[in-house]
Amino acid sequence: MAAVDVAALADGVREGRRASISRAITLVESRRADHRAAARELLTTLTPDAGGAVRVGISGVPGVGKSTTIEALGTYLTGRDHKVGVLAVDPSSVRTGGSVLGDKTRMSTLAIDPNSFIRPSPSAGTLGGVARATSQAMTILEAAGYDVVLVETVGVGQSEITVAGMVDTFLFLTLARTGDQLQGIKKGILEIADVIAVNKADGERVREAEVTAKDLAGALRMVYAGTQDWVPPVLTCSGLEGTGIDTVWSRVLRHREFLGHRGLAEKRAQQQLDFTWALVRDELEDRLRRHEGVRAVRADVREEILEGRLGAAEAADRLLAAYDD
Ligand code: GDP
Repeated sequence: MAAVDVAALADGVREGRRASISRAITLVESRRADHRAAARELLTTLTPDAGGAVRVGISGVPGVGKSTTIEALGTYLTGRDHKVGVLAVDPSSVRTGGSVLGDKTRMSTLAIDPNSFIRPSPSAGTLGGVARATSQAMTILEAAGYDVVLVETVGVGQSEITVAGMVDTFLFLTLARTGDQLQGIKKGILEIADVIAVNKADGERVREAEVTAKDLAGALRMVYAGTQDWVPPVLTCSGLEGTGIDTVWSRVLRHREFLGHRGLAEKRAQQQLDFTWALVRDELEDRLRRHEGVRAVRADVREEILEGRLGAAEAADRLLAAYDD
């Protein structure tokens, strides 16, 4: 990318021009110092126009039907005059289960829909880097008039929590399971899921999916008994056939109503605060890694630790002392 005319790029984004949006997202994904400066300027310009979207995170294990469901939900929404952005957070950029998150070929209808914009996960190394770029891409899409942004991520580990930290509502997709397996998914998702959908509720699996949804809903009601908190509703849907997708969307909207204007504003403000510190930690770690003094001693320190000659506390002191020099 040559020198960036930030004002012109911002205008293009605001006018909703696809080429400008693509270019702007490429800019925020770039790790080059001059691009980072231009990206900051662009975001400062666009931020007043952003914030208007319903931000939804979507996760679930590979194969659960995320792409298929996003295709169905996205198409449902563009059919109702929404403009839908699809982003993805995949820190490993591994082709999970033969898929790339946010892969356009797996959302073939939505990919050619003029009212949708799909962008695959940036492949920028760390989760922090990917999260920053995705969150900034969301700002760009909102400034371009996209009023729904769906952020896809895999249902394992930290990336889910990261995405939960940048959306208003988190949709967790799961499959019909037996009681034992149900216990397993309950713990991790309780913290972040706002809406749960048992996908692939079609053909012979409808009944099984309904039983799972009922069991899970019952378990959740018990966990939330006596609280005023939002109790995540559990639905069934079929991304493939498009059934239950309207209900999924209505529950997303109901969750927003539950939050209310003030609750949503507070949630987003808290997210910004958390995200700020995450960015700072990330940058500091990056600087630590690149620091010449640290690089000069890290191999020795590593060896001494592995040989049992150096304890962790002392080793940490040495690395930090090298960084301070
Ligand atoms: P992802 O890895 O979570 O994005 O899952 P995909 O959307 O790629 O779906 C994985 C496989 O499950 C594909 O073969 C889909 O056709 C299939 N699939 C997805 N959703 C459904 C559904 O609702 N019903 C059925 N029967 N199959 C589905």
